[in-house]
Amino acid sequence: MANNDKENMLKKIISHAKEYGFVFPSSEIYDGLGAVYDYGQNGVGLKNNIKEYWWKSMVQLHENIVGIDAAIFMHPTTWKASGHVDAFNDPLIDNKDSKKRYRADVLIEEHITKIEQKIKKEIAKAAKRFGDSFDENQFRSTNPRVLQYQENIDAINQRFKTGMANEDFADLKALIEELGIADPVSGSKNWTDVRQFNLMFATELGSVAEGASKIYLRPETAQGIFVNFLNVQKTGRMKIPFGIAQIGKAFRNEIIARQFIFRMREFEQMEMQFFVKPGEELTWYESWKERRLEWHLALGLDPANFRFHDHLNLAHYANAACDIEFNFPMGFKELEGIHSRTDFDLKAHEEYSGKKLQFFDPRENKRYVPYVIETSIGLDRMFLAVLSSTYTEEVLEDGSERTVLKLPPVLAPVKVAILPLVNKDGLPEKSREILDLLKYDFNCQYDFKDAIGRRYRRQDAIGTPLCVTVDSQTMVDDTVTLRHRDSMEQERVAVAALHAKIGGLVTFSKTFQRLHV
Ligand code: ATP
Repeated sequence: MANNDKENMLKKIISHAKEYGFVFPSSEIYDGLGAVYDYGQNGVGLKNNIKEYWWKSMVQLHENIVGIDAAIFMHPTTWKASGHVDAFNDPLIDNKDSKKRYRADVLIEEHITKIEQKIKKEIAKAAKRFGDSFDENQFRSTNPRVLQYQENIDAINQRFKTGMANEDFADLKALIEELGIADPVSGSKNWTDVRQFNLMFATELGSVAEGASKIYLRPETAQGIFVNFLNVQKTGRMKIPFGIAQIGKAFRNEIIARQFIFRMREFEQMEMQFFVKPGEELTWYESWKERRLEWHLALGLDPANFRFHDHLNLAHYANAACDIEFNFPMGFKELEGIHSRTDFDLKAHEEYSGKKLQFFDPRENKRYVPYVIETSIGLDRMFLAVLSSTYTEEVLEDGSERTVLKLPPVLAPVKVAILPLVNKDGLPEKSREILDLLKYDFNCQYDFKDAIGRRYRRQDAIGTPLCVTVDSQTMVDDTVTLRHRDSMEQERVAVAALHAKIGGLVTFSKTFQRLHV
């Protein structure tokens, strides 16, 4: 998709999400609050279903994974130990003309991406020219133009890394100027100095200012798991390897937040820390990479929208890391992170708390600090991935148009709509009887207003996989029309068979059975 089309697609999704009660800007009557959003009546349904899918696939399907729900506020030393107080920073830079704020590292990375695209173009051209005999590796290592581009990239990367490591912000600014990087919005190259900016929100605990102490809103849920490692291990009598899962809010004072719910200041994470024996972490890392991709694909989402991005520059505490990237309307971007975090976090908490956070292995008669594999996915990003990839505009055979969310049925906020064809002749009463049969197990909607075609369109727009239409024949033989959202096919089904039929399509069992756990 060209950039313009991508922007249009994102705009369409944002307005659809608002029009149909999925996502609203926060406190909109006061013109909203930057990068903070509220989920509406349908959004909360979709979000809760994503949570349920994640939670059950972790906690219910794994004997050795348990869940917790830790508080958002934590002892401030937690964030000293985790490194967030000292290092959870982004280098920011402002453009003096447009007054727009950017992350200096992102500006430089985007510049590098542009050079990489030039290399790709050269390769594509050559591949076309040489046909089957084309050898990409050989071309990369010999073509003078490509070599020059690559040399440029390496030099920029090297200077960028050194600048970041030494916090030499003057040189980062100099680099931005030397590369001629312009504000993507205004084209201006009039930059301020680069400054460090800590992303944690701080507040005060205690009612009087003098006695109050500074605490933070957690920037990730993971630390709530680490500090509870021993509590859970002991009370749950957990044996290594085992995992602790958690879903909860996290807060980051993001510098740039212009991509709808992709980058929010208040968001939700679904994180699982898997504790393993040192030395076995890379095998577990590979296994979790595979299992997490499988979790996404089991929903029936298009595999072409997913890819792994292996990290080459590893954080100091990680010995392997990758992202699962998703093809969002803005292009491929991080949806989920999978990290092999070694024993960094538990060791740091041991050091700062003075408590031993170790596991005693009775088979080896040995005590050790476990290594950790983390899987961390943003719930809101998953929501956007599902919403954006299932949003479909269709022209039907009769020339009419419909907008349909082809949500995986297990995630759809409303599973079945019950629609009396006309609002008389006993059909409403019969419809409500059917509703009573179904509502204890499925989220249903009853709708009698407008022509049936319009009611189908409304359900299509919120992704309801099934519509049950009650008509005069129902009164005679106790059958209804079951209409399927994607194919728009209709079949006649006995009321007595409805529950089982719907259940087979919208409950998680079949999706879970696709997972290798
Ligand atoms: P990014 O590089 O995009 O800022 P990150 O690498 O800082 O993300 P992690 O710290 O690995 O992100 O967080 C784990 C997951 O939490 C991410 O994969 C993402 O899905 C989600 N996440 C992180 N920051 C945000 C945010 N501001 N808004 C929504 N989701 C977020």
